Amino acid sequence: MNRAIFLDRDGTLNYDSRDYIKNLSEFKLYPFTISALQILSSLGFKLVIISNQACIGKGLTTEEAVEEIHSFLQSELKSNGIILDGVYYCPHRKEDNCDCRKPAIGNVRRAAADFAIDLSQSYFIGDSPKDVLTGRNAGCCTIRVATGVWQDEPVEYSGAEIEPDYKSDNLLSAAQLIALLERGKE
Ligand SMILES: [Mg+2]
Ligand SMILES: [Zn+2]
Repeated sequence: MNRAIFLDRDGTLNYDSRDYIKNLSEFKLYPFTISALQILSSLGFKLVIISNQACIGKGLTTEEAVEEIHSFLQSELKSNGIILDGVYYCPHRKEDNCDCRKPAIGNVRRAAADFAIDLSQSYFIGDSPKDVLTGRNAGCCTIRVATGVWQDEPVEYSGAEIEPDYKSDNLLSAAQLIALLERGKE
């Protein structure tokens, strides 16, 4: 079985916006993202993005524009020696009640089946309570990063206790934390 790092996209890998990231010109990686992913990749994890892109369902952007972002990201990472194993995104709106919009775990399950991933040995990293809940629903270890624009979100999930297993300043400190945790297992 493989192990994976499931990654939220906006606010975790790249600067987020409350108006969505709708096209490549709005997509900008954080300065530490490449280093962080190099660490995680060197630890032997599959790297898989799990993203909600309701901006498609709302008609604010298109699948093509979103896939252009992902092709750019794939090649940017590849040129830095990082294999991004999968990108799974939900194009639906909340009202669509699909099984792939986080905190539902349809996309995590699909990735787990595609790459023979042991979810209980994997991590979910994201910047919002929704990510923490997704990781928990999937049985992964959860890390919440303090980047992004949803730090004071609770909104949708107020009432639910959504504490991650770990909190990190950003993706790089999360990667360093995982490296430490992995060393402890040896
Ligand atoms: Mg996010
Ligand atoms: Zn969906």
